[in-house]
Amino acid sequence: MAALPFLLRRFRELRVVDETSEQALIREGILTLADLDLAIADERPLTADATLRRAAGMLGQEARPLTLGRAWDVLDGLIDSLTRNCPLLHSIEASGPARRAEPVVSGLVVVARAADPARAIESIAALPTITDVLHRTLRRILVLFEGCEVDIRVATADEYGSLLFTTTGPARHVVDVLKRRGPRLSASETEVYTNAGLPYLPAETRDSPDAIDRAVRRDVPHLIRREDIRGDLHMHTTYSDGRDTLRRMIESSHALGYEYIAITDHSEHSAASRSLTLDDLARQRDEIAELRGATRDLTILHGIEVDILPDGSLDCPDAVLESLDIVLASLHDSAGQDGAELTRRCLEAIRHPLVNVITHPANQLVGRRPGYDMDYAAIYEAAAETGTALEIDGAPSHLDLSGERAREAVEAGATVVIDSDCHRCRALDRQMQMGVGTARRGWIEPGQVLNTRSLPDVRAFIARKRAR
Ligand SMILES: [Zn+2]
Ligand SMILES: [Zn+2]
Repeated sequence: MAALPFLLRRFRELRVVDETSEQALIREGILTLADLDLAIADERPLTADATLRRAAGMLGQEARPLTLGRAWDVLDGLIDSLTRNCPLLHSIEASGPARRAEPVVSGLVVVARAADPARAIESIAALPTITDVLHRTLRRILVLFEGCEVDIRVATADEYGSLLFTTTGPARHVVDVLKRRGPRLSASETEVYTNAGLPYLPAETRDSPDAIDRAVRRDVPHLIRREDIRGDLHMHTTYSDGRDTLRRMIESSHALGYEYIAITDHSEHSAASRSLTLDDLARQRDEIAELRGATRDLTILHGIEVDILPDGSLDCPDAVLESLDIVLASLHDSAGQDGAELTRRCLEAIRHPLVNVITHPANQLVGRRPGYDMDYAAIYEAAAETGTALEIDGAPSHLDLSGERAREAVEAGATVVIDSDCHRCRALDRQMQMGVGTARRGWIEPGQVLNTRSLPDVRAFIARKRAR
């Protein structure tokens, strides 16, 4: 059997479709789960069949989604290959859930424009980096790339906006906007929204249930962007479980143009594969002092990511924490405690005058473990009251606070900080971008983010709490 798109292959195996209904799906362009979601949201007659809907739900579970980090690895590789080898393609962009910065990505989509889409599709099919072509029309090619199914769509310039908008999703949002707008084709996404009588909504906000309401009220603020970020306050080195040395992490941060960074390795009793003894911390302090000379326009803060112990105390003496520039604290280990006990632990750390940031506050593991069941309202309130920042952690395994929680936190008056929590220098920028994408899902604005501020303002934020 020739290779088929995942959806059609599973539909055949499950005997959800016969030959006639399979042809009907293909004719309608329903080749991926995203197509099917959209057709169902749009209430197309073909999708009224109950068996097909049940199977769609089941396949959604089965599709083995990717983390956002892995999705970007594949998409960047493919976009790079298309950019180098297919000169007919322009405006090549990742679309779908990755563009919305969803923590778990259920389908990979790339869109591009070309004067002659059919010829462009031919040039894509001929790429040696493509392992297999699963389906192909004049404007679309479903391929296997690095073991993943990717839907590549090509439009002419005058319909590119419609294509980017529709493939970005989510299905509910697409159908709701298109209902307001009629079937006109648009060259840009801004035009799609203008035709619907709405201001432009950034891709990351489109999962919010109130996105369209906010657009109707003209309540769409300028959201945080990667270029607003002036420093990264959370990263690891080989002093604890990082893969790269202190020197390399500093050099890479310098190359990114940051004004300041904080080096924040794990405290002694954290469950990390390697952690810092107090001796290590002293050695690290000396090495940072030496390296400061080499990067004069980058300020290196010496910090720590200290574990919050089961009794709520910190895994490092106060006298040592006091000697550091910044202190991050984390509930890495639940110690079998319930939500109420974990909340008490977290609040105790927030009320500690030397703790400046709570890292990945919910301690979720994307796709594997939901966040702790804590009293988040109490945590946001205490953070706001004490001047403690709550982190949006850009590591693809964390992406925590989630966009939704970050939004609640700033609404409660708390300050957030967006960090990479990076363990290797080549991911510093990528993880910061994913943190920013997560923040944008929470409608976060630059003024609500600690590390959009100047270094003196960051230092003042820390000093204010210490003075309390
Ligand atoms: Zn951590
Ligand atoms: Zn960390």
